[in-house]
Amino acid sequence: MSFPFTPLPFLDDLDQKQWESLCDGCAKCCLQKLEDDFDSTVYYTNLVCQYMSDDCRCTVYQKRQELVPNCVWLKKEDVENFYWLPNTCSYRLVNERTPLALWHPLNDLEKNAKISNTVRNKQSISSQKIIKDNTVPEQDWEEHIINWVE
Ligand code: SF4
Ligand code: SF4
Repeated sequence: MSFPFTPLPFLDDLDQKQWESLCDGCAKCCLQKLEDDFDSTVYYTNLVCQYMSDDCRCTVYQKRQELVPNCVWLKKEDVENFYWLPNTCSYRLVNERTPLALWHPLNDLEKNAKISNTVRNKQSISSQKIIKDNTVPEQDWEEHIINWVE
């Protein structure tokens, strides 16, 4: 198996560098989510973690678990719990044995680099109207449910 991952790997076979390279940086997992108590459906909101920078980077990466208890920490052993990740998330795709999207950085072949960058930017939450979660009272989060993350 080599970059860009041919053939499609199993998550368990990835070393740490390969594991980290799977993340395309879309930052969708840093959006606040609400779970229906009745049927466990997960709804994404347009409320992003207060520690996200304007260019979609975590500003507290080393201390994220300490500062944000519900910060997502993806681990191989939790893979079966990944069902709520967006359907573009590479960890979910690989776990479901689905090839990565063509715009993924690992598929960023020279001939389609321009297209990939354009499409990839559209996948990032930076192209959407998002609001810092600490500016909206929690009881109002339901009003911020969105449908652009599936
Ligand atoms: S949703 Fe997946 S690909 Fe996107 S930032 Fe989170 S872990 Fe990375
Ligand atoms: S603390 Fe966690 S949820 Fe917040 S921006 Fe960093 S990685 Fe995302």
